[in-house]
Amino acid sequence: MPFTTLYYSDQFVLAKEGFDTTRKAGWIADSLAKHPISNVRLEGPVPVTEAQVLRVHAPAYLAALRTGEPHATATSSTLAWDSGTLTMALHVCGGVLAAGKTALRKGVSGTLASGLHHAKRDRGAGFCTLNGLAIAAHTLADVTKGHILILDLDAHCGGGTHSLIQNHPRLWQLDVSVSPYDDYQPGKRCVKEIVTDAPKYLKTVSRCLQRAEAEWPEFALCLYNAGMDVHQDCQIGGLSGLDDFLITLREEMVFQWCRERRIPVAYAMAGGYVSSTLTRNALVSLHRMTLERFRRDDS
Ligand SMILES: [Zn+2]
Repeated sequence: MPFTTLYYSDQFVLAKEGFDTTRKAGWIADSLAKHPISNVRLEGPVPVTEAQVLRVHAPAYLAALRTGEPHATATSSTLAWDSGTLTMALHVCGGVLAAGKTALRKGVSGTLASGLHHAKRDRGAGFCTLNGLAIAAHTLADVTKGHILILDLDAHCGGGTHSLIQNHPRLWQLDVSVSPYDDYQPGKRCVKEIVTDAPKYLKTVSRCLQRAEAEWPEFALCLYNAGMDVHQDCQIGGLSGLDDFLITLREEMVFQWCRERRIPVAYAMAGGYVSSTLTRNALVSLHRMTLERFRRDDS
């Protein structure tokens, strides 16, 4: 029986500061222990190396994450710094890279990692310490000759990622957001849309995928940033009218698009935050929708 490997380790939740981005992976892992999803197996990833980080980040920023100084740089993600911050970030990025490598071999894989797309060369931003999508994409481009698509459906724009991949000739970005945070001017190999009207959301995602298929080369891999902060109950990013049903359809659409074109896909959790309108259980349930949909089904 084939199984889908989902990358997670306790190092993902190592940071002392308790915030969704530093705890959510553990909540989802606990949920899977209590209520397993058939044929989904958790596995610990190898952390990315500092050399891999330096493909996209500045040495001074890496040093700040290692030492905590200067304080403003070490906390530029907006999360508090502690001695576990760098180790946590290296493992989180390792989850994305491991999922990408496994997807290339087996068709689909994922990671419980989040906080991956706002960090820039010399600083973090928006709960993102290192840019795991850009680090993984650059590293994976070394092991495949093909083109790699970063599909970012987090509520917020992926301006950090864009700044770190835009000069690579085989890295592409399709970014549909519902918030202008981390907005940017898309360059070559990038389509970016900001949707402010829920009924247009799925149509926009569909249109962007169709455009990618019509105008862009075939892809060897899709890295999917499956943000749940688009949900109407999420107070950081949510769009009124975007409910569970529409997000389920989104996950179905993306998985079908990849599967029908035989594009291996590796997904990460991305945004999604507990608030007075979104309980922890409800948030975990939203992320489990991605896990439920993106599974190997070649039995
Ligand atoms: Zn977000």
